[in-house]
Amino acid sequence: MTWKLTKSELDNQNLLINESLLSLGNGYLGVRGNFEEGYADAFKSIRGTYINAFHDETEISYGEKLHAFPDKQQKLVNIIDAQTVHIYLDGERFSLFEGEVLAFERNLHLDKGYAERVIHWKSANGKEAKMHFRRLVSFVTKELFAIDIKVEPLNGTKEVKFVSTVNGDVSNFVDKDDPRVASGHAKRLVCVDVRKAGSYNVVQNTTYETKLDVACVTRTNVTGMNAYEHRVLDEGIEEVYTQEGASHFTKFNIYTDTLRHGENVSETGEAIQEEIGDKSFEELLNEQEQYLNEFWKTTDIKIGGDAHLQEGIRFNLYQLLQSVGKDPVSNIAAKGLSGEGYEGHYFWDTEIYMFPVFLMTNPEIAKNLLLHRYSILDSARERAREMGHRKGALFPWRTITGGESSAFFPAGTAQYHISADIAYSYIQYYLVTKDEEFLKDYMAEVLFETARLWVDTGHFKDGKFRIDDVTGPDEYTCIVNNNYYTNVMAKNNLLWAAKVYKMLEKAEIAKKLGVTEAEVAEWQEAGEKMYLPYDEDLKINAQDDTFLQKQRWDLENTPKKDFPLLLNYHPLTLYRYQVCKQADTVLAHFLLENEADEETIKNSYDYYEGITTHDSSLSYCVFSIMASKLGYQDKAYSYFNETARLDLNNTHGNTKDGLHMANMGGAWLAIVYGFAGVRVKEDGLSLNPNLPEEWDSLEFCLQYRGRLIRVKMEKRGVSYTLVEGDEIGIRHKGEDVVLEKSKEVQK
Ligand code: BGC
Repeated sequence: MTWKLTKSELDNQNLLINESLLSLGNGYLGVRGNFEEGYADAFKSIRGTYINAFHDETEISYGEKLHAFPDKQQKLVNIIDAQTVHIYLDGERFSLFEGEVLAFERNLHLDKGYAERVIHWKSANGKEAKMHFRRLVSFVTKELFAIDIKVEPLNGTKEVKFVSTVNGDVSNFVDKDDPRVASGHAKRLVCVDVRKAGSYNVVQNTTYETKLDVACVTRTNVTGMNAYEHRVLDEGIEEVYTQEGASHFTKFNIYTDTLRHGENVSETGEAIQEEIGDKSFEELLNEQEQYLNEFWKTTDIKIGGDAHLQEGIRFNLYQLLQSVGKDPVSNIAAKGLSGEGYEGHYFWDTEIYMFPVFLMTNPEIAKNLLLHRYSILDSARERAREMGHRKGALFPWRTITGGESSAFFPAGTAQYHISADIAYSYIQYYLVTKDEEFLKDYMAEVLFETARLWVDTGHFKDGKFRIDDVTGPDEYTCIVNNNYYTNVMAKNNLLWAAKVYKMLEKAEIAKKLGVTEAEVAEWQEAGEKMYLPYDEDLKINAQDDTFLQKQRWDLENTPKKDFPLLLNYHPLTLYRYQVCKQADTVLAHFLLENEADEETIKNSYDYYEGITTHDSSLSYCVFSIMASKLGYQDKAYSYFNETARLDLNNTHGNTKDGLHMANMGGAWLAIVYGFAGVRVKEDGLSLNPNLPEEWDSLEFCLQYRGRLIRVKMEKRGVSYTLVEGDEIGIRHKGEDVVLEKSKEVQK
């Protein structure tokens, strides 16, 4: 039951939300869950098709532009629309918003990789038919989006007509009142080629500024056709197929782009169509299922005793797979490929919230995310120079191909922690895979360049290394000195850079990256002497130097309608109070738990919980993980509830703009790092499982150092099975356990 998500609502609000929930993708291509035939006239759908990283650039207009503010912003572009198919029954146009809907069901199949609509409809004049729409975005041929429609006319209805278009006249969505969505520059593409090429239709567009090309090469199959018309329009193509009786229509759309396919996007698209040949929709479905079987083998999480949360976690994992870039030009956007919120940008969301999921279930995908960051290291070096640093690399707060795309620097560029977050993900990758080659070829350089940034940003005072004027994860507190999160993550970055240097062949590294012994000594010293703010009275880590001196925001007496606060208060008002948008110090205590003692961690949790709004969806999961660690079972469970179904229940109210991908990763983290207490450190893999009382069991797998380990938590105890790989030692609640192939160990 929980492999199928059913969403059959037809009201405007739910239709918009369902466009995101029922979006399809494969990491390269994404298509929102729009109706092929459209909607009622008044309804404003966000009709969208996207290619990960396919972007244009727009000028940022500032009232007052100061030095090193970015001139341009990258923007994911809504590309050529191939979704549209109108259906006419004896000349009457089918619409779910006219006539009579006798039956309607809409499903997304998480195990089979397709979406469907099953419809029984009667027109105002009594024309009647059963229809079955299915669509998929292939995991096997990444360029392919296919639509399959079967129509069975009933009660004397005879003629079925399909009017199918490929439309190059497309625009992006804008909302001037929501800073989380673009406010202008809707049209970014111009159509440069429309033609029929044998049995294919070709539409090619180019972006205004980046001059990237995208082509859509379409082939349509219709059984038993009586009449056919073909029209080349100004910016698209229209085909009309007419037949009598039961009809079967299939449209295969191939999308290619300059970033992956070079100059000749149309020709490449045609060649891919040739390769697919006359593969049927059913064959494509088989391929999808086989691919997903492999995915779920390592990635599924089974919750015994709660179908609702089971549905939530599976849906989240499925959407993560649909959104994650699997080639080195792409990463995973804050909204994945499901919508236009945050304009397709990549944030720290990747490293801290989503990368760990792939790292421990599909390490190859995780590696690709690191390679994408590596590919923008030169831009990060340039950005550091623009920002006045003599050395090092400063990764952009939000970007697609490396340029800083944040126009609001206090909550953008100032979040220097992203560089340490990226370093952290490289370190985690190394700890989980022990990939020495990768360490030598990529990780060392990233760690050294980010370490250089920290040394250049901070300074020594009274024997301590301090970092001034940065912003931590909590965006309701900006530009502060010694943000605990930033400092502790920078410390980790610096000490690991020094450690990696010692692990490598000195002469080679010195030659390749110009690293000197003196520099490494600086990293070591700055790391060891890093200042970490601590409040003696409260016995907590202070979020920064001045945070605890501010007035507390009165959350209890703030009207519900004022949340999220960012939409209702000027940033300065928020900065003047102790109020957090999201986990900050509490997150640092999860990522680097050995840096603080248990008492400080507990006191800090209690303190910050009282002033955190969770206005960012990146917050609940962290509070759930830490509640598990601290033995607050009820809280761990209730915060997990907030994350697991956040989009399914639209609790943040903006799922229509796309899914909250970091939160989706966070739901996995809350289970694996939270309830199962998994940690990966230099001394290996450890677990500290605590099954929520509400559940009968919890089962999941971990990929670790080439092994696949299955963990099953039940009320009576925990069992571990080494499914693949050689014998390995792990720790269960502090006790050493050896896992041997296929033998179940009970604890
Ligand atoms: C959060 C950031 C996050 C961004 C994109 C913001 O609301 O505060 O931490 O990176 O959304 O998801």
